[in-house]
Amino acid sequence: MAADRCLDCDSRLPPEGGIESAFSREDGQYCQDCVATPRIALVGCGSAKQDLDDGETVPAKDLYTSPYFSLKREYAEECCDEWQILSAKHGLLDPETEIEHYDASLNPQSDSYIGDYEAGVWAVETAQSLSVWTSLKIPYTHYVVLAGEDYVGHRHIEDELDRHRHVAYPFRRDDLGGIGDQQGWLREQIDNYHPPGQADIEHFAADGGGER
Ligand SMILES: [Zn+2]
Repeated sequence: MAADRCLDCDSRLPPEGGIESAFSREDGQYCQDCVATPRIALVGCGSAKQDLDDGETVPAKDLYTSPYFSLKREYAEECCDEWQILSAKHGLLDPETEIEHYDASLNPQSDSYIGDYEAGVWAVETAQSLSVWTSLKIPYTHYVVLAGEDYVGHRHIEDELDRHRHVAYPFRRDDLGGIGDQQGWLREQIDNYHPPGQADIEHFAADGGGER
C-alpha cells in the first residue's frame, strides 16, 4: 500500500501517520525527515555556452545555454533548496561563481574531451570537494543527481555519494535514458512540485537541523 509511505522517499510512515504537505491538494503524507531537511541538486554542466570575450565572466549558472541545462537549472531553483554544478573544468562549482568561457568535456566522444587520465583526476578532486562541501550539510539532506554517467559513473564520485542517506539518480531510471525523456521528467516535476512544509526549511537549516 502506498498510502502508509512517505510521498518523497517512500519510507514507511509511523503508525500515527506522517506530516501533511503544506498543499491541501496533495494526496498523501511526508515523513519527518523529508519535511525537515533540505534538498540539494547536483547538476552536470553543458557543452553549449555563451560566447564571452577574453577575461569576461558570468555567474556559472548563466554560462550554459542549452535547453537541457536550463531545465535542470529550473528544477534545481524551483524544487530544491540549493544546488551545485558539476563542471568538467571546475569540478564542484557554485552557480553564483563568476567564470570565463571554457571548453572541456567528460564525454570521450566529444572534441573537448579532457582525456582519460584527466578525467580520473577530475573524479578524485571532485569527490574530495563534494566530501568537504557536503560535510557542512545536515545529515538527512536529500541529494538529487542530475548528471550523466560521464560525471557520476566514476568510482570515487559514487563512493562519496554512497555515504549519504538520501541520494536519488532519476536519470538512471530505465525509462529516462534519453535527453528528451529526461526533459519530460524535469518539466513534469517542476509543474507538479509542491514543497513539503517548505516554509520551515530555512529555519531548520539555519539551526543546523532544528528540533525534532
Ligand atoms: Zn520521506
